[in-house]
Amino acid sequence: MPIPPFNAYLGTEIRQRDDGTIETRLELGPHHLNRRGVAHGGVITSLLDSALGAAVIAAIPKEWWCATTSLTTQFLGGAGTGLLTATGRVLRRSRNVAFAGGEVRDAADRLVATAIGTWHLWPYRPVPHVSELPGHWVRMRDGGRPLQVGKILAVGRNYAEHVAEMGAPPDAPPVLFFKPPTAIPREGSKVRLPADGGEVHHEVELVVLIGRPGRRIPATRALEHVSGYGVGLDLTLREVQSEAKRRGEPWSLAKGFDGSAPVSRIVPRDEVGDGSGLAIRLTVNGELRQSGNTSQMLRPVAELIASASRWVTLDEGDLLFTGTPAGVGPVRPGDRVEAEIENVAKLVVEFDSDEGAAATGDL
Ligand code: MG
Repeated sequence: MPIPPFNAYLGTEIRQRDDGTIETRLELGPHHLNRRGVAHGGVITSLLDSALGAAVIAAIPKEWWCATTSLTTQFLGGAGTGLLTATGRVLRRSRNVAFAGGEVRDAADRLVATAIGTWHLWPYRPVPHVSELPGHWVRMRDGGRPLQVGKILAVGRNYAEHVAEMGAPPDAPPVLFFKPPTAIPREGSKVRLPADGGEVHHEVELVVLIGRPGRRIPATRALEHVSGYGVGLDLTLREVQSEAKRRGEPWSLAKGFDGSAPVSRIVPRDEVGDGSGLAIRLTVNGELRQSGNTSQMLRPVAELIASASRWVTLDEGDLLFTGTPAGVGPVRPGDRVEAEIENVAKLVVEFDSDEGAAATGDL
């Protein structure tokens, strides 16, 4: 059984016995003792909370969470040295409440304390990282505090018809790349296209917001790490990218320039599902340019998360752009782009040019 950070700090070991009872053990050290030289009540209580809480965790589905709502400890004797062993087991549980009880014994098997408590249980709902710091962020559909964006991962060549229009071979595998958080435009402002960067192409994409950290995430559990979905634009300096490709160089700046990743408000995962079967489209000044369905993805969302997290930790607030269907093309200053994932999210972006922006170093 993995040891939570607090238990590691306290110095406890946790294991599950064959009968399902949880055992937590602590070798008492000087820092665990009070001035009278016996184990501090907080240490005893922590040991019991760990044993009883771990018993509750072992008794509920993996995708559920629990929290201690009450814990009553009866102290029966002091313990000053040696090994303390706490045991805990679930006494009774309903859908949302569990009752657990247990005890602590010292190295001589003397009863040191007993405890009984209640735990609130609920299905796991990923809660993204929230920061008060100024930065580049997205919002959930129903408002609330802004969610600061961490990394932005994106996949290229994930729709066969787009692979073809880019002139890549049909068997070219999807490619992952990064955009910086500064690619999220500030809310309510126009996206300023680099005047000296050549043609900028629109790419409408389903965007995934990560709500739970993970590394080497199996595809079968990938959706547990998804907080919600939105629609976004993977804006691309196409001429810069083509030149970089021709030279065999990275094309980071072609994909990562400021404002190159506008994202709609985010809709909770529960209302969307696994991200498949969603109609996705984009218009420029009212003219339909891109229209597809997320079921056309060569790799679905769960596989992309598994692939992206193979070498890179995915964290709360990270975004994953999942590739674009065919029909990419240029946008220019003055254009109005509407991107939509039907019945999920809509995004309106207006464009300006950064021509004439002074090179002062100021934001
Ligand atoms: Mg793209």
